Amino acid sequence: MELSNVRRAAFNGATLPGGGEFTDRVVQLLESQTENSTVFLTNSCTRALEMAALICDLEPGDEVIAPSYTFVSTINAFLLRGARIVFVDIDKTTMNIDTRLIEAAVTNRTKVIVPMHYGGIGCDMDTVMDIANRHKLLVVEDAAQCPNATWKGKQLGSFGHIGCMSFHGTKNITAGGQGGAVFINDPSLVAQAEIVYDNGTNRQAFFRGETSNGYEWKSLGSNFALCEVQAAYLWAQIDQATKIVHRRLQIWNAYHNYLQPLVQGGKIEVMKQPPESVHNAHIFWLKLINSEKRGAFGKFMKEKGISTTTHFTPLHKPAISTKLGCRFYGEDRYTSQESSRLTRLPLFYKMTDEEVGLVLNAVYEFFGESVEDDLSNIGNSSGTT
Ligand SMILES: *Cc1c(COP(=O)(O)O)cnc(C)c1O
Repeated sequence: MELSNVRRAAFNGATLPGGGEFTDRVVQLLESQTENSTVFLTNSCTRALEMAALICDLEPGDEVIAPSYTFVSTINAFLLRGARIVFVDIDKTTMNIDTRLIEAAVTNRTKVIVPMHYGGIGCDMDTVMDIANRHKLLVVEDAAQCPNATWKGKQLGSFGHIGCMSFHGTKNITAGGQGGAVFINDPSLVAQAEIVYDNGTNRQAFFRGETSNGYEWKSLGSNFALCEVQAAYLWAQIDQATKIVHRRLQIWNAYHNYLQPLVQGGKIEVMKQPPESVHNAHIFWLKLINSEKRGAFGKFMKEKGISTTTHFTPLHKPAISTKLGCRFYGEDRYTSQESSRLTRLPLFYKMTDEEVGLVLNAVYEFFGESVEDDLSNIGNSSGTT
């Protein structure tokens, strides 16, 4: 279906650069999953974040509060606008920014808070929005990993003033390798977003017949659009998202449930689903006792032909971080320590039950133990917290 859509989009030359039938369909579907968001498709989530940072209209020296445990594009977008990043520590059970520590980091230069929802598990957005409202700050959610993930029943990326999502090839659903979306959730930002999205011009208003003498340059902007061929690919993926997430959740639940004996034995910690969250099984992480043990685990699994992957390294550590004016507010109690012992098990849509069983057996073997439960039920693994 991806390929037939792409063929159809490619034959409509007029809308190839974007804004055609498939872009409209994807936009409408994403908007329908939210209460009142206006969605713009972008060519990556990195670009979505850059567009969000432009809309925030920052001045050099303005401060942006973000976690250090995140992908580098979360903060690059704001650094490109001359802002300074103030990192806050994470919560060790979710690996998300610890929302209880945000308010103390607010200064009179603070303009934006950027929560990132790790693995589709939502940050406490009630706390974030309350702080933002009281201090008149903007909130840009990095919801890169969050298609089909909700918090308190609401789509992640639709809580803050702006939300950014990714359709990169490594994410749950993809626009043929690269893609993203910006969710404008504050209606008062929509007009400016439309201008920024179209190279800083009011061309969209002109197309709607709202300006009489053509269109003109209004502000800073860029060409953020996702091309139509990729929107066609994305439409086919979104159409299958329920099926994709369903299978990914089976695998996630199997890992979660079958590994409980090792968790109870104090050998590992695993990702959990807090009651407010419905995640999308984007990743499954576990933590070894320390980084040495993680290294040994990775090596052992590799010898078994299974690739486990570590994840983000803290952004406040490299020399470039201080050079660009980033600072860590408060104590780095968990960011460095917890990120150094976290690793991810393989999790992909086409993974078979047998492959999941092989991974589980290998994890147990690393600890000199064996799986006690019956592994023939992997395909029926259901959710627990
Ligand atoms: C993947 C990811 C991004 C970047 O998304 P792209 O679409 O690859 O640009 C940003 N933030 C987080 C948290 C991510 O996981």
